Amino acid sequence: MEWETVIGLEVHAQLATKSKIFSGASTQFGELPNTTACAIDLGFPGVLPVLNLEAVVMAIKFGLGIEATIPHQSVFARKNYFYPDLPKGYQISQFELPVVKRGFIDIVLDKDTTKRINITRAHLEEDAGKSLHENWSAQTGIDLNRAGIPLLEIVSEPEMRSSKEAVAYLKAIHTLVRYLDICDGNMQEGSFRCDANVSVRPRGQTAFGTRTELKNINSFRYVERAIQVEVERQINLLEEGGKIIQETRLYDPDKNETRTMRAKEEANDYRYFPDPDLLPLVITDEWIASIRQTLPELPQQKLKRLIDQYGLSAYDATILTSSKEMAAFYETAVSASNQPKLAANWIISELLGALNKANLDITTSPVSALELGKLVSYIADNILSGKLAKIVLEALWEKEGDIDTIIAKRGLKQITDTATIEKMVDDLIVAHPEQVAAYRAGKEKLFGFFVGQAMKSSNGAINPEQLNQILKQKLA
Ligand code: ADP
Ligand code: MG
Repeated sequence: MEWETVIGLEVHAQLATKSKIFSGASTQFGELPNTTACAIDLGFPGVLPVLNLEAVVMAIKFGLGIEATIPHQSVFARKNYFYPDLPKGYQISQFELPVVKRGFIDIVLDKDTTKRINITRAHLEEDAGKSLHENWSAQTGIDLNRAGIPLLEIVSEPEMRSSKEAVAYLKAIHTLVRYLDICDGNMQEGSFRCDANVSVRPRGQTAFGTRTELKNINSFRYVERAIQVEVERQINLLEEGGKIIQETRLYDPDKNETRTMRAKEEANDYRYFPDPDLLPLVITDEWIASIRQTLPELPQQKLKRLIDQYGLSAYDATILTSSKEMAAFYETAVSASNQPKLAANWIISELLGALNKANLDITTSPVSALELGKLVSYIADNILSGKLAKIVLEALWEKEGDIDTIIAKRGLKQITDTATIEKMVDDLIVAHPEQVAAYRAGKEKLFGFFVGQAMKSSNGAINPEQLNQILKQKLA
């Protein structure tokens, strides 16, 4: 039987406000435990929450970024449960009336496939504290610094059909919140995390299968792997005649497996009700319009513009707009070279590869956008061959000086003088009489041998088109 995977994601994006969502305490990460939690975050009796305006502005920005409906009224609700890291006994969240309803985001899957994923809702809520199990024996530490940190929970429709689509969706949301400057996107620090809901069904069946929920996955790679192993587990179980039970599971990256965290029977009945301490959140059209004015060029708009303006593929444009910084790097390189396609190729296939290997990113690239642009213009002007340009790129990376200095010091200029190339080809022909005879007798594959020899003896410096042309003439 053929199985189809169904995935819906719940993303928690920590909003980049300076103070908490219902108190004035700092949101600064990494402070000593319990030093950035005030009486409100600690849930002392008699305290009252005051909504942080900036958190609402950020939620509205997100809503605009996914072309969602922003209702004129939304309501904060209490989600009741008991846990040591939740001193109030309830979390303030939004339930029936969220601040953002029904939007979408487009994801690019490969060279020419895009897919629209609908977003059910996004709501504001406060984070809980954290239980600390390390460094404690037979005890658990509670750090309430995180209590009251503003979160935007973004819930997708169950419209993804593979782990690859789920990762593409997650990346698109990650890119969007960073463009909007509403979340720093730091997955290690937990400012951007995701729960994946996964089910399988026989291909062709319309009803969804029973889903499991994989909690708190904090890297793109783990999302992909966690979903893959969970899908395998579900299919194996079903094929053995077993049944999937709806439950929450944890992904263990070391063992690369998922395991039960809590079953549905143990699930809480949250007894949601509107929080009497908070008024309904009223958002006017004028307010929305004024926030719209402040939006930067969004990833989708930038993507479209890069495709139209520079003739890039959707795939390349997606990579180059994956962050504002990446797009700025690219556009600087283009203005320095006037070579949009070549610049795109060199950034994507050479520079990003090297950055990745060195665990760096575009903001910490040892080679600047201007340098890369100049390098690309030298390739376009035939001053450097691709091969020589790679050597120059490595030297730039190693900070051996500017491009012209490197070329001069290492004697890397491309050979474009016809007479020089002809002389080199003549020498080759004299040095390899057997191959010449074989070639002339019809063994045309040997052409590559001559190209290789010429490139070897010139350290890759001969202009390849001229070499081909002259070789063809002389060998004929
Ligand atoms: P809950 O409140 O229990 O988390 P929701 O109805 O809000 O439940 O759904 C949460 C997420 O689960 C959504 O992203 C939704 O798309 C996804 N989802 C719902 N049903 C399925 C299913 N059968 N398979 C995969 N994902 C699902
Ligand atoms: Mg859920």
